[in-house]
Amino acid sequence: MKISTLAEQIKLGKRRALAKGITLIESEQEKHQESAQQLIAELQDERDTMRIGVSGVPGVGKSTFIEAFGNVLIDAGLRVAVLAVDPSSPTTGGSILGDKTRMETLANREEAFVRPSPTSGTLGGVTKRTRETIVLCEAAGYDIVLIETVGVGQSEYEVASMVDCFMVLMLPGGGDSLQGIKRGILEITDVLVINKADGKQESMAQRAGAEYKKAFHLLKPKYEGIEVPVQLTSSLTGKGIEKTWKTIQDFIDTLKERGLFLKNRKGQRQQWFKRIAEERWLNLLWKNPGVEKELPSLAKRISNQEITPDQAANELLKHVKRED
Ligand code: GDP
Repeated sequence: MKISTLAEQIKLGKRRALAKGITLIESEQEKHQESAQQLIAELQDERDTMRIGVSGVPGVGKSTFIEAFGNVLIDAGLRVAVLAVDPSSPTTGGSILGDKTRMETLANREEAFVRPSPTSGTLGGVTKRTRETIVLCEAAGYDIVLIETVGVGQSEYEVASMVDCFMVLMLPGGGDSLQGIKRGILEITDVLVINKADGKQESMAQRAGAEYKKAFHLLKPKYEGIEVPVQLTSSLTGKGIEKTWKTIQDFIDTLKERGLFLKNRKGQRQQWFKRIAEERWLNLLWKNPGVEKELPSLAKRISNQEITPDQAANELLKHVKRED
């Protein structure tokens, strides 16, 4: 299929075309990458959309939350795309569970598109091409893109740097130790949700909520003068889900009033550019004939401790061959 035809089909909201487009941009093959670039260029018009990150440790209830939240959004007349984490084995890297077992009712709705990504690699569901995938989903007419990430390492920071609102789900009773990685995450949080605030855990969730609120006062705010809302939800009963949507809308409105929404998006485009430039440079480096030729002997000298890795890196750069 011609790229312009594929682009047209995506714009018409055809699901299969969207899935095909995403597969194309995720492909590592060089010939696909050129088509992918063309596709992105044809689709990159920005509509009035919202990109929301949904982060939290495995088991906190992300997929249950997204299902409940997504249904609330659709009932409000919106179309929702979910870039979900597929909890399949990281070693196979494949999507074993597909989109059927998680978020089933959402995936079955006409107004939703659920795309699972394997958790392979270190980024917990975030792929190198998540930014491009967002563009495609928006072009296909989805108003809200939810990007799920498991709370591991860099993935939070990656996702936070590509969304308008970064939401973090926490467990009730998790408020007692706010150090280490959690603190880092709180600093990039826009909306904090304490999930599973039901049954016996409800009072615990209320206490945790109060503690998180206190903690936010001690941290450097992400945006001067904007307090991080702390919301209690039960994704099982649906309690607090609509309120969370209202909270997110208020947050986005505030960003827009202060001119921060567009400023963030512009910054994100710059960051996208840098990421891609770096990635392409790295590919060029490792495929450079001079580098390929020199690499085995340098590797050997590093192993034999005849040269330090630092010196070897310097040496390597001297052998980069220019085409001109
Ligand atoms: P994820 O790994 O973060 O996606 O978590 P899941 O959505 O798979 O949920 C993990 C478990 O917690 C499941 O057994 C859910 O039924 C349960 N769960 C999710 N949300 C809630 C909630 O609000 N209240 C209670 N009581 N259980 C929940």
